[in-house]
Amino acid sequence: MEEYKNRPESLMMSYGYKPELSEGAIKCPIFQTSTFVFKRAEEGKAFFEVAYGLREKGHDEELGLIYSRLNNPDLEILENRLSLWDGADDCAVFESGMSAISTVLMEFLKPGDLLLYSSPTYGGTDHFINHVLTKWGVKLVNFFPNQSKEEIIQKIEDTGMGDKLALVYIETPANPTNTLIDIEMCREIADHFKEGEERIPLAVDNTYMGPLWQHPLKHGADLVVYSATKYIGGHSDVIAGACLGSSEHMARIKGLRTFLGNMAGPWTGWLLMRSLETLKVRMERQAKNAVEVAQFLEDHPKVDKVYYLGLIPEDDKGQKEIFKKQCKSTGAMVAFDIQGGEKAAFKFLNQLKLIKLAVSLGSTESLAEHPATMTHADVGKEAKDALGISENLVRLSVGVEHVDDLIHDIKQALDEVKNL
Ligand SMILES: *Cc1c(COP(=O)(O)O)cnc(C)c1O
Repeated sequence: MEEYKNRPESLMMSYGYKPELSEGAIKCPIFQTSTFVFKRAEEGKAFFEVAYGLREKGHDEELGLIYSRLNNPDLEILENRLSLWDGADDCAVFESGMSAISTVLMEFLKPGDLLLYSSPTYGGTDHFINHVLTKWGVKLVNFFPNQSKEEIIQKIEDTGMGDKLALVYIETPANPTNTLIDIEMCREIADHFKEGEERIPLAVDNTYMGPLWQHPLKHGADLVVYSATKYIGGHSDVIAGACLGSSEHMARIKGLRTFLGNMAGPWTGWLLMRSLETLKVRMERQAKNAVEVAQFLEDHPKVDKVYYLGLIPEDDKGQKEIFKKQCKSTGAMVAFDIQGGEKAAFKFLNQLKLIKLAVSLGSTESLAEHPATMTHADVGKEAKDALGISENLVRLSVGVEHVDDLIHDIKQALDEVKNL
């Protein structure tokens, strides 16, 4: 008989935790400890052999607890639970999304290598790529979401460094306009430049859609990274990150994490486990609210254009195709062009009462911001034009409030814009 498999949302309260190891506590306690006592010296020796890769782990052997920079129950249980959503072999949690991202970039790139990455990426990622990696002699090629596979391959060939391509790094949907990048196409580009047997890794920042609404590993990605500060944490009260992938890739990531020491602490691990219990209900409610918010904006005379995965224009067959292939939901991020430039956008933002004026996304409370002067202030004019980041653009992260209250708030703020 085939074994019955519970769904991830049913496992978030219990998976990977044994109450009998913690005095029967139903919840995993916070293991606020730096080090762990070995029963005997032989045990300490055996744990270190595995931790430092001096020998393979035995078939039924669990990696013993040594020291909280290497492992801690609050992180290990969280990592096991987080792996379920993406169907990954393993996961590593970090003290921020940026530390997950910079660790991936450092592990898979060395001086003289070529990195292919999509623009726009998150501002911090873009800064790390352009100001830190270049200092270390890594060469860069970027592409925009609307470019074809042939154009991107040509761009790489034009550098004369195709044989040095060592990593492909993308973010889809692109922030803030929700333009999708085809993950399978990026796999094909990586494979096009592969020499010999070894794959060129493809890493996807899945913060905008994950871990529920898009599963990059199923479309040819090797690594998935998250700012767990966003949907995974979901309450605007913790900064954290995660990276997921195959056992081989994750062994490298966890190795570098041990020596950079940028793992999350036990308290962060505990908070994220608590957040995972409600992840699905939160995200479903956010996506449902976003459908109605986007429709209201689409119908409003002061709004020119809505950028939302549920409103991809009929004639944009390419984007529709990618959406069908790799997205399981229209998400909860909505951007729109308001008439009247920065002045109107600011008036709208200042007038909101329930929705908070703040950057970040994916949390229980709805947030609004102005990408051109806030999250994307650093993006050059040419890229801003190519991406549609104008003075008119406002970005919303839709939360779990009652949708009628959200629409009421947006409506009253737009009414004020009329009175400029
Ligand atoms: C917020 C964010 C990051 C950075 O994460 P931190 O947790 O703030 O370090 C990276 N990528 C995306 C898409 C983000 O939204």
